[in-house]
Amino acid sequence: MAEKKKRLHMQERSAAERTRDFQEVPLGYTPEEAIEEAKRCIQCKNPLCVKGCPVEVKIPEFIKLVAEGKFAEASRKIKETNALPAVCGRVCPQEEQCELKCVLGVKGEPVAIGTLERFVADWERDNVKLQTSNLKPQDKISINKSHKIAVIGSGPAGLTCAGDLARLGYQVTIFESLHVTGGVLRYGIPEFRLPKKIVDLEVEYVKTLGAEVKTDMLIGNVYTIEELLKEYKAVFVGSGAGLPKFMGIPGENLDGVYSANEYLFRVNMMKAWQFPESLTPVKIGKRVAVVGGGNVAMDAARVSLRLGADEVTILYRRTQEEMPARIEEIKRAVEEGVIFKILTLPVAYHANNEGWVTDAECLQMQLGEPDSSGRRRPVEIPGSNFKLQIDTVIVAIGNSPNPLIPLRTPGLKTEKWGGVIVTAEGLTSLPAVYAGGDIVRGAATVISAMGDGKTAAKAIHQLLAK
Ligand SMILES: Cc1cc2nc3c(=O)[nH]c(=O)nc-3n(C[C@H](O)[C@H](O)[C@H](O)COP(=O)(O)OP(=O)(O)OC[C@H]3O[C@@H](n4cnc5c(N)ncnc54)[C@H](O)[C@@H]3O)c2cc1C
Ligand code: SF4
Repeated sequence: MAEKKKRLHMQERSAAERTRDFQEVPLGYTPEEAIEEAKRCIQCKNPLCVKGCPVEVKIPEFIKLVAEGKFAEASRKIKETNALPAVCGRVCPQEEQCELKCVLGVKGEPVAIGTLERFVADWERDNVKLQTSNLKPQDKISINKSHKIAVIGSGPAGLTCAGDLARLGYQVTIFESLHVTGGVLRYGIPEFRLPKKIVDLEVEYVKTLGAEVKTDMLIGNVYTIEELLKEYKAVFVGSGAGLPKFMGIPGENLDGVYSANEYLFRVNMMKAWQFPESLTPVKIGKRVAVVGGGNVAMDAARVSLRLGADEVTILYRRTQEEMPARIEEIKRAVEEGVIFKILTLPVAYHANNEGWVTDAECLQMQLGEPDSSGRRRPVEIPGSNFKLQIDTVIVAIGNSPNPLIPLRTPGLKTEKWGGVIVTAEGLTSLPAVYAGGDIVRGAATVISAMGDGKTAAKAIHQLLAK
Protein backbone atom coordinates (compact mmCIF):
# COMPACT_ATOMS: atom_id res chain seq x y z
CA MET A 1 0.00 0.00 0.00
CA ALA A 2 1.28 3.50 -0.86
CA GLU A 3 2.58 5.36 2.14
CA LYS A 4 0.23 8.11 3.37
CA LYS A 5 1.64 11.60 3.05
CA LYS A 6 2.74 13.16 6.32
CA ARG A 7 1.08 16.30 7.65
CA LEU A 8 2.85 19.44 6.55
CA HIS A 9 3.81 21.51 9.56
CA MET A 10 4.03 25.32 9.40
CA GLN A 11 7.42 26.98 9.49
CA GLU A 12 8.10 28.98 12.65
CA ARG A 13 10.57 31.67 13.62
CA SER A 14 13.39 30.33 15.78
CA ALA A 15 13.01 30.64 19.55
CA ALA A 16 16.16 32.77 19.78
CA GLU A 17 14.83 35.27 17.25
CA ARG A 18 11.21 35.45 18.31
CA THR A 19 11.80 36.10 22.02
CA ARG A 20 13.41 39.41 21.07
CA ASP A 21 10.20 40.88 19.70
CA PHE A 22 6.40 40.63 19.69
CA GLN A 23 6.03 39.52 16.08
CA GLU A 24 4.06 36.43 15.20
CA VAL A 25 5.75 33.07 15.82
CA PRO A 26 4.34 30.70 13.13
CA LEU A 27 4.78 31.78 9.52
CA GLY A 28 1.76 30.06 7.96
CA TYR A 29 1.64 28.04 4.73
CA THR A 30 2.71 29.15 1.29
CA PRO A 31 0.02 28.59 -1.40
CA GLU A 32 1.89 25.49 -2.60
CA GLU A 33 2.06 24.06 0.91
CA ALA A 34 -1.64 24.77 1.50
CA ILE A 35 -2.58 22.92 -1.68
CA GLU A 36 -0.34 19.99 -0.77
CA GLU A 37 -1.80 19.69 2.73
CA ALA A 38 -5.38 20.14 1.49
CA LYS A 39 -4.88 17.22 -0.89
CA ARG A 40 -4.44 14.93 2.13
CA CYS A 41 -8.14 15.33 2.97
CA ILE A 42 -10.02 12.26 1.72
CA GLN A 43 -13.38 14.11 1.55
CA CYS A 44 -15.24 11.79 3.89
CA LYS A 45 -18.93 11.21 3.11
CA ASN A 46 -19.69 11.59 6.81
CA PRO A 47 -17.15 14.25 7.81
CA LEU A 48 -16.61 13.85 11.53
CA CYS A 49 -14.39 16.93 11.52
CA VAL A 50 -17.48 19.15 11.07
CA LYS A 51 -19.11 17.56 14.11
CA GLY A 52 -16.10 18.66 16.13
CA CYS A 53 -16.52 22.31 15.13
CA PRO A 54 -18.84 24.39 17.34
CA VAL A 55 -19.53 26.81 14.47
CA GLU A 56 -19.99 24.05 11.87
CA VAL A 57 -17.44 25.25 9.33
CA LYS A 58 -17.95 23.29 6.09
CA ILE A 59 -14.51 21.79 6.45
CA PRO A 60 -14.25 19.26 3.59
CA GLU A 61 -15.88 21.74 1.20
CA PHE A 62 -13.43 24.54 1.97
CA ILE A 63 -10.47 22.16 1.94
CA LYS A 64 -11.49 20.84 -1.50
CA LEU A 65 -11.47 24.43 -2.80
CA VAL A 66 -8.00 24.96 -1.32
CA ALA A 67 -6.78 21.77 -3.01
CA GLU A 68 -8.05 23.21 -6.31
CA GLY A 69 -6.23 26.48 -5.66
CA LYS A 70 -9.54 28.37 -5.31
CA PHE A 71 -8.58 30.33 -2.21
CA ALA A 72 -11.11 33.18 -2.49
CA GLU A 73 -13.93 30.64 -2.87
CA ALA A 74 -12.56 28.69 0.10
CA SER A 75 -12.67 31.83 2.22
CA ARG A 76 -16.30 32.51 1.24
CA LYS A 77 -17.16 28.93 2.13
CA ILE A 78 -15.69 29.31 5.63
CA LYS A 79 -17.38 32.64 6.13
CA GLU A 80 -20.79 31.11 5.49
CA THR A 81 -20.62 29.98 9.11
CA ASN A 82 -17.56 31.64 10.66
CA ALA A 83 -16.94 35.39 10.63
CA LEU A 84 -13.55 35.14 12.35
CA PRO A 85 -11.48 32.53 10.45
CA ALA A 86 -8.10 34.25 10.82
CA VAL A 87 -8.63 34.37 14.58
CA CYS A 88 -9.85 30.77 14.79
CA GLY A 89 -7.04 29.52 12.56
CA ARG A 90 -4.59 30.95 15.08
CA VAL A 91 -6.00 30.34 18.53
CA CYS A 92 -8.65 27.61 18.38
CA PRO A 93 -7.77 24.36 20.12
CA GLN A 94 -8.24 22.39 16.86
CA GLU A 95 -6.39 19.44 18.35
CA GLU A 96 -9.33 18.94 20.72
CA GLN A 97 -12.05 19.71 18.18
CA CYS A 98 -12.17 19.30 14.39
CA GLU A 99 -8.69 17.76 14.11
CA LEU A 100 -9.36 15.36 16.98
CA LYS A 101 -12.25 13.89 14.96
CA CYS A 102 -10.46 13.79 11.57
CA VAL A 103 -10.29 10.16 10.38
CA LEU A 104 -6.69 10.56 9.24
CA GLY A 105 -5.81 10.99 12.91
CA VAL A 106 -6.74 7.36 13.68
CA LYS A 107 -3.64 5.91 12.05
CA GLY A 108 -1.57 8.99 11.45
CA GLU A 109 -1.82 12.77 11.68
CA PRO A 110 -5.10 14.62 11.07
CA VAL A 111 -5.41 17.16 8.27
CA ALA A 112 -4.06 20.56 9.47
CA ILE A 113 -7.54 22.08 9.37
CA GLY A 114 -6.62 25.06 11.56
CA THR A 115 -3.54 25.97 9.55
CA LEU A 116 -5.52 25.74 6.32
CA GLU A 117 -8.22 27.99 7.76
CA ARG A 118 -5.56 30.47 8.76
CA PHE A 119 -3.96 30.33 5.32
CA VAL A 120 -7.25 30.95 3.53
CA ALA A 121 -8.17 33.91 5.77
CA ASP A 122 -4.70 35.46 5.39
CA TRP A 123 -4.74 34.94 1.65
CA GLU A 124 -8.05 36.77 1.39
CA ARG A 125 -6.74 39.57 3.56
CA ASP A 126 -3.71 40.04 1.31
CA ASN A 127 -5.47 39.57 -2.00
CA VAL A 128 -9.10 40.68 -1.81
CA LYS A 129 -10.33 44.08 -0.74
CA LEU A 130 -13.44 43.44 1.27
CA GLN A 131 -16.26 45.91 0.75
CA THR A 132 -20.00 45.74 1.16
CA SER A 133 -20.27 45.86 -2.63
CA ASN A 134 -18.33 42.62 -3.13
CA LEU A 135 -20.15 40.59 -0.49
CA LYS A 136 -21.59 37.50 -2.14
CA PRO A 137 -25.20 36.31 -1.69
CA GLN A 138 -24.03 33.74 0.85
CA ASP A 139 -22.52 36.54 2.97
CA LYS A 140 -25.72 38.50 3.17
CA ILE A 141 -28.65 36.16 3.04
CA SER A 142 -31.55 38.53 3.66
CA ILE A 143 -32.07 42.26 3.84
CA ASN A 144 -35.65 42.73 4.83
CA LYS A 145 -35.83 42.72 8.61
CA SER A 146 -36.23 45.98 10.42
CA HIS A 147 -36.01 44.71 14.01
CA LYS A 148 -33.23 46.17 16.13
CA ILE A 149 -31.06 43.92 18.28
CA ALA A 150 -28.52 44.94 20.92
CA VAL A 151 -25.35 42.91 21.48
CA ILE A 152 -23.31 43.61 24.61
CA GLY A 153 -19.59 43.00 24.22
CA SER A 154 -17.45 42.80 21.09
CA GLY A 155 -15.53 39.63 21.97
CA PRO A 156 -15.91 36.47 19.87
CA ALA A 157 -19.37 35.70 21.31
CA GLY A 158 -20.77 39.17 20.56
CA LEU A 159 -19.10 39.46 17.16
CA THR A 160 -20.45 36.08 16.03
CA CYS A 161 -23.97 36.74 17.27
CA ALA A 162 -23.93 40.21 15.69
CA GLY A 163 -22.44 38.93 12.42
CA ASP A 164 -25.02 36.15 12.04
CA LEU A 165 -27.94 38.47 12.79
CA ALA A 166 -26.62 41.20 10.52
CA ARG A 167 -26.28 38.64 7.72
CA LEU A 168 -29.97 37.89 8.20
CA GLY A 169 -30.71 41.57 7.74
CA TYR A 170 -31.46 42.67 11.31
CA GLN A 171 -30.29 46.06 12.56
CA VAL A 172 -27.63 45.09 15.06
CA THR A 173 -25.76 47.39 17.43
CA ILE A 174 -22.79 46.12 19.43
CA PHE A 175 -22.21 47.99 22.69
CA GLU A 176 -18.60 47.69 23.88
CA SER A 177 -17.41 49.09 27.21
CA LEU A 178 -13.81 49.64 26.09
CA HIS A 179 -12.68 52.16 23.48
CA VAL A 180 -11.68 49.28 21.20
CA THR A 181 -13.30 46.08 19.97
CA GLY A 182 -12.35 42.41 20.18
CA GLY A 183 -12.53 41.59 23.90
CA VAL A 184 -9.84 39.16 25.00
CA LEU A 185 -8.67 38.84 21.40
CA ARG A 186 -7.49 42.43 21.75
CA TYR A 187 -6.54 42.91 25.38
CA GLY A 188 -5.55 39.38 26.48
CA ILE A 189 -3.93 37.31 23.73
CA PRO A 190 -0.52 38.77 22.88
CA GLU A 191 0.50 40.11 19.48
CA PHE A 192 2.94 37.22 18.84
CA ARG A 193 -0.01 34.79 18.84
CA LEU A 194 -2.73 37.00 17.42
CA PRO A 195 -1.66 40.20 15.65
CA LYS A 196 -4.07 43.03 16.33
CA LYS A 197 -4.37 43.84 12.63
CA ILE A 198 -6.08 40.44 12.29
CA VAL A 199 -8.59 41.39 14.97
CA ASP A 200 -9.16 44.75 13.24
CA LEU A 201 -9.83 43.07 9.93
CA GLU A 202 -12.27 40.52 11.25
CA VAL A 203 -14.17 43.17 13.23
CA GLU A 204 -14.31 45.21 10.00
CA TYR A 205 -15.80 42.20 8.23
CA VAL A 206 -18.58 41.96 10.84
CA LYS A 207 -19.22 45.68 10.31
CA THR A 208 -19.30 45.13 6.56
CA LEU A 209 -22.09 42.62 7.13
CA GLY A 210 -24.08 45.47 8.63
CA ALA A 211 -23.41 45.48 12.39
CA GLU A 212 -22.88 48.88 13.99
CA VAL A 213 -20.36 49.18 16.84
CA LYS A 214 -20.61 51.68 19.68
CA THR A 215 -17.54 51.78 21.92
CA ASP A 216 -17.15 53.36 25.38
CA MET A 217 -20.58 51.99 26.30
CA LEU A 218 -20.52 50.26 29.65
CA ILE A 219 -23.92 48.58 29.76
CA GLY A 220 -25.23 48.49 33.29
CA ASN A 221 -24.00 52.07 33.70
CA VAL A 222 -24.81 53.90 30.46
CA TYR A 223 -28.00 51.89 29.83
CA THR A 224 -29.51 48.98 31.69
CA ILE A 225 -30.83 45.95 29.82
CA GLU A 226 -34.33 47.05 30.77
CA GLU A 227 -33.69 50.37 29.01
CA LEU A 228 -32.21 48.66 25.94
CA LEU A 229 -35.32 46.49 25.63
CA LYS A 230 -37.44 49.61 25.09
CA GLU A 231 -35.67 50.17 21.78
CA TYR A 232 -34.28 46.74 20.88
CA LYS A 233 -36.40 43.62 20.31
CA ALA A 234 -33.76 41.32 21.79
CA VAL A 235 -30.49 41.60 23.69
CA PHE A 236 -27.48 39.28 23.59
CA VAL A 237 -25.08 39.49 26.53
CA GLY A 238 -21.52 38.52 25.62
CA SER A 239 -19.67 40.49 28.26
CA GLY A 240 -17.10 37.82 29.02
CA ALA A 241 -15.18 36.90 32.15
CA GLY A 242 -13.00 39.84 33.01
CA LEU A 243 -12.76 39.43 36.76
CA PRO A 244 -9.43 37.88 37.77
CA LYS A 245 -9.34 35.14 40.39
CA PHE A 246 -6.80 35.07 43.20
CA MET A 247 -5.87 32.22 45.53
CA GLY A 248 -6.48 34.14 48.73
CA ILE A 249 -3.02 33.40 50.12
CA PRO A 250 -0.87 35.77 52.22
CA GLY A 251 1.12 38.33 50.23
CA GLU A 252 -1.07 38.45 47.10
CA ASN A 253 -1.52 42.20 47.60
CA LEU A 254 2.24 42.91 47.64
CA ASP A 255 3.88 45.15 45.05
CA GLY A 256 5.11 43.01 42.18
CA VAL A 257 2.13 40.64 42.26
CA TYR A 258 -0.13 41.08 39.23
CA SER A 259 -3.23 39.32 38.01
CA ALA A 260 -2.57 38.03 34.48
CA ASN A 261 -5.43 40.24 33.34
CA GLU A 262 -3.83 43.40 34.59
CA TYR A 263 -0.40 42.36 33.36
CA LEU A 264 -1.50 41.48 29.82
CA PHE A 265 -3.86 44.45 29.64
CA ARG A 266 -1.00 46.82 30.51
CA VAL A 267 1.17 45.25 27.85
CA ASN A 268 -1.38 44.79 25.06
CA MET A 269 -3.51 47.87 25.50
CA MET A 270 -1.33 50.42 27.23
CA LYS A 271 1.93 49.54 25.47
CA ALA A 272 3.61 49.30 28.84
CA TRP A 273 6.80 47.94 27.27
CA GLN A 274 7.31 51.37 25.72
CA PHE A 275 7.24 53.20 29.08
CA PRO A 276 8.09 56.10 29.58
CA GLU A 277 6.99 56.92 25.99
CA SER A 278 3.69 55.24 26.93
CA LEU A 279 2.01 56.32 30.15
CA THR A 280 1.70 52.93 31.85
CA PRO A 281 4.68 51.05 33.27
CA VAL A 282 4.93 47.33 33.84
CA LYS A 283 7.65 46.59 36.31
CA ILE A 284 9.18 43.15 36.14
CA GLY A 285 12.47 42.06 37.59
CA LYS A 286 14.89 39.36 36.53
CA ARG A 287 12.92 36.43 37.94
CA VAL A 288 9.24 36.08 37.13
CA ALA A 289 6.93 33.38 38.48
CA VAL A 290 3.64 32.70 36.70
CA VAL A 291 1.05 30.71 38.61
CA GLY A 292 -1.23 28.49 36.48
CA GLY A 293 -1.10 26.12 33.51
CA GLY A 294 -3.58 27.50 30.96
CA ASN A 295 -3.16 29.59 27.81
CA VAL A 296 -3.20 32.73 29.93
CA ALA A 297 -0.26 31.48 32.00
CA MET A 298 1.73 30.58 28.86
CA ASP A 299 1.00 34.02 27.39
CA ALA A 300 2.06 35.84 30.57
CA ALA A 301 5.27 33.77 30.74
CA ARG A 302 6.21 34.32 27.10
CA VAL A 303 5.43 38.05 27.35
CA SER A 304 7.74 38.25 30.38
CA LEU A 305 10.61 36.76 28.37
CA ARG A 306 10.00 39.32 25.66
CA LEU A 307 10.03 42.10 28.25
CA GLY A 308 13.52 41.04 29.25
CA ALA A 309 13.17 38.73 32.27
CA ASP A 310 16.16 36.42 32.75
CA GLU A 311 14.23 33.56 34.24
CA VAL A 312 10.52 32.82 33.89
CA THR A 313 9.05 29.94 35.86
CA ILE A 314 5.58 28.46 35.59
CA LEU A 315 4.33 27.18 38.93
CA TYR A 316 1.67 24.53 38.38
CA ARG A 317 0.14 22.24 40.95
CA ARG A 318 -0.38 19.25 38.65
CA THR A 319 1.95 17.96 35.90
CA GLN A 320 2.44 19.10 32.31
CA GLU A 321 0.07 16.34 31.17
CA GLU A 322 -2.87 17.93 32.97
CA MET A 323 -2.14 21.49 31.85
CA PRO A 324 -5.15 23.05 30.10
CA ALA A 325 -3.02 25.20 27.76
CA ARG A 326 -2.83 24.28 24.08
CA ILE A 327 -0.12 21.70 23.47
CA GLU A 328 1.57 23.81 20.78
CA GLU A 329 1.74 26.85 23.07
CA ILE A 330 3.30 24.75 25.86
CA LYS A 331 5.81 23.45 23.32
CA ARG A 332 6.65 26.98 22.20
CA ALA A 333 7.03 28.17 25.78
CA VAL A 334 9.45 25.30 26.46
CA GLU A 335 11.44 26.12 23.31
CA GLU A 336 11.66 29.75 24.39
CA GLY A 337 13.16 28.78 27.74
CA VAL A 338 10.23 29.01 30.16
CA ILE A 339 10.95 26.79 33.15
CA PHE A 340 8.14 24.46 34.24
CA LYS A 341 8.04 23.79 37.96
CA ILE A 342 5.27 21.24 38.15
CA LEU A 343 3.58 19.78 41.26
CA THR A 344 4.24 23.11 42.95
CA LEU A 345 1.71 25.19 44.86
CA PRO A 346 2.48 28.69 46.14
CA VAL A 347 1.10 29.16 49.66
CA ALA A 348 2.46 32.64 50.54
CA TYR A 349 4.52 35.51 49.10
CA HIS A 350 7.05 37.43 51.16
CA ALA A 351 8.38 40.98 50.69
CA ASN A 352 11.34 43.26 51.39
CA ASN A 353 11.08 46.35 53.63
CA GLU A 354 9.61 48.37 50.78
CA GLY A 355 6.75 45.95 50.27
CA TRP A 356 8.02 44.38 47.01
CA VAL A 357 7.70 40.67 46.64
CA THR A 358 11.00 38.76 47.08
CA ASP A 359 10.03 35.12 47.24
CA ALA A 360 7.24 32.61 46.87
CA GLU A 361 6.82 30.02 49.55
CA CYS A 362 5.65 26.83 47.86
CA LEU A 363 4.52 23.33 48.74
CA GLN A 364 5.51 20.23 46.82
CA MET A 365 2.48 18.30 45.54
CA GLN A 366 1.79 14.76 44.34
CA LEU A 367 -1.02 13.42 42.18
CA GLY A 368 -3.91 11.63 43.90
CA GLU A 369 -7.17 10.16 42.57
CA PRO A 370 -8.98 11.84 39.62
CA ASP A 371 -11.37 14.68 40.58
CA SER A 372 -14.60 15.86 38.91
CA SER A 373 -12.57 17.27 35.97
CA GLY A 374 -11.23 13.76 35.29
CA ARG A 375 -7.70 14.96 36.02
CA ARG A 376 -5.72 13.54 38.93
CA ARG A 377 -6.14 15.70 42.00
CA PRO A 378 -3.05 17.48 43.33
CA VAL A 379 -2.36 16.53 46.95
CA GLU A 380 -0.02 18.46 49.26
CA ILE A 381 3.03 16.74 50.68
CA PRO A 382 3.02 17.93 54.32
CA GLY A 383 6.15 19.74 55.45
CA SER A 384 7.53 20.05 51.92
CA ASN A 385 7.61 23.90 52.03
CA PHE A 386 10.38 25.60 50.10
CA LYS A 387 11.13 29.13 48.95
CA LEU A 388 11.70 30.40 45.45
CA GLN A 389 13.37 33.78 44.95
CA ILE A 390 11.38 36.00 42.62
CA ASP A 391 10.87 39.67 41.71
CA THR A 392 7.45 39.38 40.08
CA VAL A 393 4.45 37.08 40.38
CA ILE A 394 1.70 36.81 37.77
CA VAL A 395 -1.40 35.00 38.95
CA ALA A 396 -3.09 33.23 36.01
CA ILE A 397 -5.51 30.82 37.68
CA GLY A 398 -8.67 31.84 35.86
CA ASN A 399 -11.32 34.52 35.60
CA SER A 400 -14.89 34.94 36.75
CA PRO A 401 -17.75 36.41 34.70
CA ASN A 402 -18.00 40.20 34.59
CA PRO A 403 -20.41 40.97 37.46
CA LEU A 404 -21.80 44.38 36.43
CA ILE A 405 -24.64 43.29 34.15
CA PRO A 406 -25.92 40.52 36.46
CA LEU A 407 -25.78 43.03 39.34
CA ARG A 408 -27.73 45.69 37.45
CA THR A 409 -30.32 43.40 35.85
CA PRO A 410 -33.09 42.38 38.27
CA GLY A 411 -34.43 38.89 37.52
CA LEU A 412 -31.33 37.74 35.60
CA LYS A 413 -30.54 34.39 37.19
CA THR A 414 -26.92 33.41 37.78
CA GLU A 415 -25.01 30.46 39.17
CA LYS A 416 -23.38 30.86 42.59
CA TRP A 417 -20.02 31.42 40.87
CA GLY A 418 -21.47 34.26 38.79
CA GLY A 419 -22.21 32.64 35.42
CA VAL A 420 -25.48 33.67 33.77
CA ILE A 421 -27.90 30.73 33.55
CA VAL A 422 -29.21 30.02 30.04
CA THR A 423 -31.24 27.37 28.20
CA ALA A 424 -29.73 25.27 25.40
CA GLU A 425 -30.83 28.07 23.03
CA GLY A 426 -28.98 30.69 25.08
CA LEU A 427 -32.12 32.26 26.58
CA THR A 428 -31.64 33.73 30.07
CA SER A 429 -34.30 33.92 32.78
CA LEU A 430 -35.54 37.15 31.13
CA PRO A 431 -37.65 37.19 27.96
CA ALA A 432 -35.76 38.22 24.80
CA VAL A 433 -32.46 38.38 26.71
CA TYR A 434 -29.86 35.86 25.57
CA ALA A 435 -26.30 35.27 26.74
CA GLY A 436 -23.25 33.26 25.77
CA GLY A 437 -19.49 32.94 25.91
CA ASP A 438 -17.44 33.39 29.06
CA ILE A 439 -20.26 35.21 30.94
CA VAL A 440 -22.10 31.87 30.81
CA ARG A 441 -19.26 29.33 30.87
CA GLY A 442 -16.64 31.07 32.97
CA ALA A 443 -13.27 31.43 31.25
CA ALA A 444 -13.54 29.05 28.25
CA THR A 445 -12.47 29.26 24.60
CA VAL A 446 -12.89 31.53 21.60
CA ILE A 447 -14.72 28.87 19.60
CA SER A 448 -17.12 27.94 22.40
CA ALA A 449 -17.95 31.65 22.78
CA MET A 450 -18.52 31.83 19.03
CA GLY A 451 -20.69 28.69 19.13
CA ASP A 452 -22.83 30.33 21.84
CA GLY A 453 -23.13 33.53 19.80
CA LYS A 454 -24.32 31.46 16.85
CA THR A 455 -26.85 29.47 18.88
CA ALA A 456 -28.31 32.66 20.35
CA ALA A 457 -28.49 34.31 16.91
CA LYS A 458 -30.54 31.34 15.63
CA ALA A 459 -32.85 31.56 18.64
CA ILE A 460 -33.29 35.34 18.29
CA HIS A 461 -34.09 34.89 14.61
CA GLN A 462 -36.69 32.25 15.48
CA LEU A 463 -38.19 34.56 18.10
CA LEU A 464 -38.42 37.56 15.79
CA ALA A 465 -39.33 35.76 12.60
CA LYS A 466 -42.56 34.45 14.21
C1 LIG B 1 -4.56 35.73 27.81
C2 LIG B 1 -5.64 34.85 27.27
C3 LIG B 1 -5.30 33.90 26.31
C4 LIG B 1 -6.29 33.09 25.78
N1 LIG B 1 -5.94 32.18 24.82
C5 LIG B 1 -6.91 31.45 24.21
C6 LIG B 1 -6.58 30.57 23.14
O1 LIG B 1 -5.43 30.41 22.75
N2 LIG B 1 -7.58 29.87 22.56
C7 LIG B 1 -8.88 30.01 22.95
O2 LIG B 1 -9.75 29.40 22.35
N3 LIG B 1 -9.21 30.81 23.98
C8 LIG B 1 -8.26 31.54 24.62
N4 LIG B 1 -8.59 32.37 25.65
C9 LIG B 1 -10.00 32.44 26.08
C10 LIG B 1 -10.86 33.25 25.12
O3 LIG B 1 -10.18 34.41 24.71
C11 LIG B 1 -12.20 33.58 25.75
O4 LIG B 1 -12.84 32.37 26.10
C12 LIG B 1 -13.10 34.35 24.77
O5 LIG B 1 -12.49 35.57 24.37
C13 LIG B 1 -14.46 34.64 25.39
O6 LIG B 1 -15.21 35.40 24.51
P1 LIG B 1 -16.41 36.32 24.98
O7 LIG B 1 -16.92 36.98 23.75
O8 LIG B 1 -17.34 35.53 25.81
O9 LIG B 1 -15.75 37.39 25.97
P2 LIG B 1 -14.57 38.45 25.83
O10 LIG B 1 -13.58 38.09 24.80
O11 LIG B 1 -14.10 38.65 27.22
O12 LIG B 1 -15.33 39.76 25.35
C14 LIG B 1 -16.24 40.41 26.19
C15 LIG B 1 -16.33 41.86 25.78
O13 LIG B 1 -17.39 42.47 26.51
C16 LIG B 1 -16.97 43.74 26.98
N5 LIG B 1 -17.78 44.06 28.15
C17 LIG B 1 -17.68 43.55 29.40
N6 LIG B 1 -18.63 44.08 30.20
C18 LIG B 1 -19.34 44.93 29.43
C19 LIG B 1 -20.44 45.79 29.69
N7 LIG B 1 -20.99 45.86 30.88
N8 LIG B 1 -20.91 46.56 28.68
C20 LIG B 1 -20.36 46.50 27.42
N9 LIG B 1 -19.31 45.70 27.14
C21 LIG B 1 -18.81 44.92 28.12
C22 LIG B 1 -15.50 43.55 27.28
O14 LIG B 1 -14.79 44.77 27.27
C23 LIG B 1 -15.08 42.65 26.12
O15 LIG B 1 -14.70 43.41 24.99
C24 LIG B 1 -7.63 33.20 26.23
C25 LIG B 1 -7.96 34.11 27.22
C26 LIG B 1 -6.98 34.95 27.73
C27 LIG B 1 -7.35 35.94 28.81
S1 SF4 C 1 -12.45 14.07 8.71
FE1 SF4 C 1 -10.40 14.74 7.98
S2 SF4 C 1 -10.18 13.64 6.04
FE2 SF4 C 1 -12.38 13.54 6.53
S3 SF4 C 1 -13.30 15.32 5.53
FE3 SF4 C 1 -12.73 16.01 7.60
S4 SF4 C 1 -10.66 16.89 7.34
FE4 SF4 C 1 -11.07 15.66 5.49
